[in-house]
Amino acid sequence: MIISKRVRNIKPSPTLAIDAKAKLLKSQGVDIINFGPGEPDFDTPDHIKDAAIKAIRDGYTKYIPVGGSLELKEAIIEKFKRDNNLNYSADEIIVSCGAKHSIYNIIQSIADPGDEIIFCAPFWVSYPDMIILADAKPVIVNTKSENKFKVLPDDIRKAITKKTKALIINSPSNPTGATYCKKELAEIAQIALENNILIIADDIYEKFVYDGFTFTSIASISKEVKDITIVVNGVSKGYAMTGWRIGYTAGPKEIISAMAKVQSQSTSNPTSISVKAAVSALSGTQEPVYKMRQEFQQRRNFIVDGLNAIEGIKCIKPEGAFYVFPSVKYFLGSEFNGKKIETDLDFANFLLEQAHVAVVGGTSFGASGYMRLSYATSINNISKGLERIAKAVKLLK
Ligand SMILES: *Cc1c(COP(=O)(O)O)cnc(C)c1O
Repeated sequence: MIISKRVRNIKPSPTLAIDAKAKLLKSQGVDIINFGPGEPDFDTPDHIKDAAIKAIRDGYTKYIPVGGSLELKEAIIEKFKRDNNLNYSADEIIVSCGAKHSIYNIIQSIADPGDEIIFCAPFWVSYPDMIILADAKPVIVNTKSENKFKVLPDDIRKAITKKTKALIINSPSNPTGATYCKKELAEIAQIALENNILIIADDIYEKFVYDGFTFTSIASISKEVKDITIVVNGVSKGYAMTGWRIGYTAGPKEIISAMAKVQSQSTSNPTSISVKAAVSALSGTQEPVYKMRQEFQQRRNFIVDGLNAIEGIKCIKPEGAFYVFPSVKYFLGSEFNGKKIETDLDFANFLLEQAHVAVVGGTSFGASGYMRLSYATSINNISKGLERIAKAVKLLK
């Protein structure tokens, strides 16, 4: 075998795979409504692009410090103060090549073989495989739509063993949009404190909460909680900068310097040009973020109502992110053209082929019987997509 066992044990990101299939059909001239993508459909704001162009012109195009420039770290420190009431020093911050890279480096830095890392299902698709890549063990705690896909504290308690190293909390959540309030986070943090485990807080959707919901970073619960929490955030989602690849981590010095070591032997610094752009994103006007949030809120309301109007689909209205995660259990076991639809993946395939609508089956996120739709697409597209779904499901017997 040429390929390592480690790599044979993981799978490519299923959300990127669906996106690839939809894009392929599109390139063949098929008019696809794509609810697949996990990225804002907005363009990166101009003042951020200008900062990058200036960086290139100024020759800011060489190696910079492994963990990012001091200028960006200071902008991040300021952001944590302003948005989260959290105080960090520069040696408690590291910038990586996207929040995905941040989480990868965190897990590489804290997990030994056999260590267990807990997270909730439905989950972001990269958690299990990143944990497996560190020879650690993913421990999944299921949530229910009746609880708005939020974990019950007792279910976390039951999952903890002597080997538990960390707990990942992703609020607002990809794929469900589930968003935890301060009180709920405090309860979860208490469990981590009592059991001496670390918290990894994936706050990447911080900027997208709706109906006046107040975002809380779990690290801000108390000094004790901050000391055991590793906060991950980035500019990808909040500033429509997915292609720029800038994510950052704040946490205990010891962990941050371990991450710097991993980074120094793998990627080295995040791209210097993107680093300048990220300074502009975090320190410049936040107006584009508010505009995106407003637009997403309208789309969320529209898509939830539209989905619930289709017989058989049940969709709860989440407080955050830009996804909805409706149940499609009603359609499982039905038939189209003599072919049975057994799983949500079959259903997603049926929608892609029959309705030319791309969605991601819930099984990819550890929850069978559901599908994820991203509403990071125009109201017009959402409207067309919903009409197509409504028409297609009538064909099921
Ligand atoms: C998109 C996403 C990330 C990673 O974002 P980057 O583009 O790597 O900065 C991390 N966590 C969740 C839950 C996400 O949806």
